[in-house]
Amino acid sequence: MALTNEQYDSLMRLYNHKQMRNNQIVAYRTKELYSAIPSLTTLDQEVTDISISSISAMFDGADMSQTTASSKQKLAELKKKREHMIVDAGFPADYLEPPYDCPDCKDTGYINGKRCHCFKQAAINIVYKQSNISTILSKENFDAYDLTLFSDDYYEKENGLSARATAQKALEDAKNFVQNFKQDGGNLLLLGQTGCGKTFLSNCIAKALLDEGVSVIYFTAFELFDIFEKQVFKKNIDVADLHDQIFDCDLLIIDDLGTELPNSFTTSRLFQCLNERLLRNKSTIISTNYNLALLRDTYSERITSRIFSCYKIIEFLGEDIRMKKIINK
Ligand SMILES: [Zn+2]
Repeated sequence: MALTNEQYDSLMRLYNHKQMRNNQIVAYRTKELYSAIPSLTTLDQEVTDISISSISAMFDGADMSQTTASSKQKLAELKKKREHMIVDAGFPADYLEPPYDCPDCKDTGYINGKRCHCFKQAAINIVYKQSNISTILSKENFDAYDLTLFSDDYYEKENGLSARATAQKALEDAKNFVQNFKQDGGNLLLLGQTGCGKTFLSNCIAKALLDEGVSVIYFTAFELFDIFEKQVFKKNIDVADLHDQIFDCDLLIIDDLGTELPNSFTTSRLFQCLNERLLRNKSTIISTNYNLALLRDTYSERITSRIFSCYKIIEFLGEDIRMKKIINK
């Protein structure tokens, strides 16, 4: 994905900031440990002395293989001793490990000169102005999925399942999707009326997968159609750059399909995009208030039946749980 210089600079500032934050935390904790465990200062001095003397020995032309082996052993012993001292004083063993947001690249954004998955996602967030995604996702995750919000005495006529049992099944399907994502990929079509928990569930999935380093783009159908339109009619360069990621990110979430103002052009672009993602084995989650019949009527039977045959359908029962959430707050 092409980033402008400005976007790249602001991303690098973000990473510098993370590294500075980590350094400050480690410096603060080191001070804290030294004052809580005074003998740690002596031990650390010993570590420094060993390192210096092995460097001096190297300059003096000593037999390095023996010198290195013995200092390595001493340093390993001291490291163990240090860990014991820290734990015995009531601190976690990894207290001086920097609290990385991404342990894979240690918050540098790069691994062996290649962009880390976290960098790719940060770039997506900046380009798609998804800056609020992490805030939403910090609240909406599987742990916050409250089944008691779904009624136990509201039943589906066809299969006899209550709204709660249906939501429970949806939750299990979503968790399975996450669990098998890296191996199987797959696509989901979430059906149900407004406020019945579709967006919440797709956010839970997004959160779980983002935590595993999967790149996720979230759009409402309205935003996505807007991008398709701008791409062609306004020749907007920034928007053209987005194109590739929409086809290529690991997971594309399209929320509220059916709330856009479809015309034959945007509709054909949508299905071109869905088709292209299927060909590239990239996953998509679509949520919609429409039922299957209405989807067919709106977007043409030929296209919808072919595309959606590659989607697992998760259906929710009526009832607006958003009101219940507000009342319970
Ligand atoms: Zn990373």
